[in-house]
Amino acid sequence: MDMDAPALSPNKYRDTWSGQVLGERVGQEVKLSGWVHRRRDHGGLIFIDLRDRTGIVQLVFHPDQAGGSHETGHRLRSEYVVSVTGKVVDRDPETVNPELPTGEYEVHVTGIEVLAESQTPPFAIEGFQGEVGEEIRLRHRYLDLRREQMQSAIKLRHKLTTAMRGFLDGEGFLEIETPILTNSTPEGARDFLVPSRLQRNSFYALPQSPQLFKQLLMVSGFERYFQIARCFRDEDLRADRQPDFTQLDIEMSFVDGEDVIALNERLISHLLGEMGIEVEGPFPRMGYDEAIGRFGSDKPDLRYGYEITDLTEVLRGTGFKAFGGVIESGGAVRGINFGQRELSRAQLDGLIDDAKELGAKGLVWAFREGDGWRAPIAKFLSAEELSGLNSAMGAEEGDLMLVAADAPAKVAAILGGLRTRLADRWDLIPDDAGTNLCWIVDWPMFEFNEDENRWDALHHPFTAPSGEFDPEKPGDATAQAYDLVWNGVELGGGSIRIHDPELQSQVFKALGITDEEASERFGFLLEALTYGAPPHGGIAYGVDRFAALLAGVDSIRDVIAFPKTASGSDPLTGAPSPVDDIQLRDVGIQLRKPPKPQGG
Ligand code: ASP
Repeated sequence: MDMDAPALSPNKYRDTWSGQVLGERVGQEVKLSGWVHRRRDHGGLIFIDLRDRTGIVQLVFHPDQAGGSHETGHRLRSEYVVSVTGKVVDRDPETVNPELPTGEYEVHVTGIEVLAESQTPPFAIEGFQGEVGEEIRLRHRYLDLRREQMQSAIKLRHKLTTAMRGFLDGEGFLEIETPILTNSTPEGARDFLVPSRLQRNSFYALPQSPQLFKQLLMVSGFERYFQIARCFRDEDLRADRQPDFTQLDIEMSFVDGEDVIALNERLISHLLGEMGIEVEGPFPRMGYDEAIGRFGSDKPDLRYGYEITDLTEVLRGTGFKAFGGVIESGGAVRGINFGQRELSRAQLDGLIDDAKELGAKGLVWAFREGDGWRAPIAKFLSAEELSGLNSAMGAEEGDLMLVAADAPAKVAAILGGLRTRLADRWDLIPDDAGTNLCWIVDWPMFEFNEDENRWDALHHPFTAPSGEFDPEKPGDATAQAYDLVWNGVELGGGSIRIHDPELQSQVFKALGITDEEASERFGFLLEALTYGAPPHGGIAYGVDRFAALLAGVDSIRDVIAFPKTASGSDPLTGAPSPVDDIQLRDVGIQLRKPPKPQGG
């Protein structure tokens, strides 16, 4: 179906879309309905741009042709809703508007009915340049959504989810809904809780993902499931996160990782193809360790170079304490060769500030000069060390090198973060870089949480290890997990799951979850796994992010009809908001006193 101008059954409001007032209608009478987009009243002639979902057409009210309608024409204001009849005519050549698909034609109005008046909108629907604050846009989101940019973003999102459904239906996947009021599903965030009125002192949790239900559906024998699912994660404020968001959630049985990856390469090629982006599988793959080593990120942007080089071996035993000390305590020294750049002292200091913001204690900068370095710290390193560093980083005369030292994971994160900032600031991504898709594979199962002195699952606790699992050495275990990265953004991620209850219990133990706790929280899963669970695995994609990337907008809020602000509130409805005492009493809740104001 043409989304922009769907089939129309003529009724009392319209027989033609505004966007469809085209050449073949010249000479005919049409009936149109929509909003007054723009109005120019020359006293005699009145011009109205009429807008509906499909586009804009110019209406003309002639004092002598329009009869009573001309009077009504004077009254019209922006965003009034009207229904008009009139005759389609060719515009005079000098008044043709090449910007509009309907710009060669206009409708000479013979009758009009005002269906609704409008207050003056708080911001212009037309000619909006993004200068209006987000709070006011969201407070009047129904008006903001009238803007062309929002209309096309929402249409694009629909096209994307429709393509998802179509493809997966074609591959035999069943769309199955899972509950919103449920119990905790751990994906690493806090739960949103909903108090139960009927069962005092008990709470539902909103799902962080449908993970456990989709696994149960595999135990149930559905074999191929998907859902465009709402997920809820109560996380701290981070730019471009929404407390409720949408995933394309997929699970399949009797598959290994290769099968899931192959299905997903077909899916992604199909979806992008529908959007006019041609890609072809197999997509390249990179191991997690390599991604962290070379790019300092588990979602590396491969559209530009400036990779990270490990310099630890070159500097082992150095007399320069800032590096030597870090190496002796098991840390690493790594650097980026940022090439030929003339940076001012202020710009170099700016890079040091960047590194510090990213958690570094400092950042060393140096330019290659002859066999050595022009750098404040050059005098602390031997000639041999300097030339070793130059050759390790492939530095040529004048190249700028940026070097940091810290614990290995930290130095990776610092330089990975710096690499992204360099790319932004120096515009390093070639315009013709196109679409870069890459699977990140061979993830560690666990990551040590220093603060809590325990192991955390890097993906989630239901991910299957590759090969034998040694519960004594969680740090050595690799997961059968895969993430799909698109131009440096994580598009989705998934894994093969554990289908053996014994192995699942061992993994819970490795995570410090006691048997008692495991049976309390996940007893239903462990039990289900004892009734013949097939090998299974799946994936989930962030639909909001996917749509934002396709729409070329910076924020996922621009592809969500009714998003929340960065602080998790909704200026339109006022959510979240206090509730009255009776509602609280019904669910057996008494509020604590608000915390005392700080510093008072
Ligand atoms: N449930 C996972 C997530 O939300 C995705 C998956 O493993 O399929 O990230």
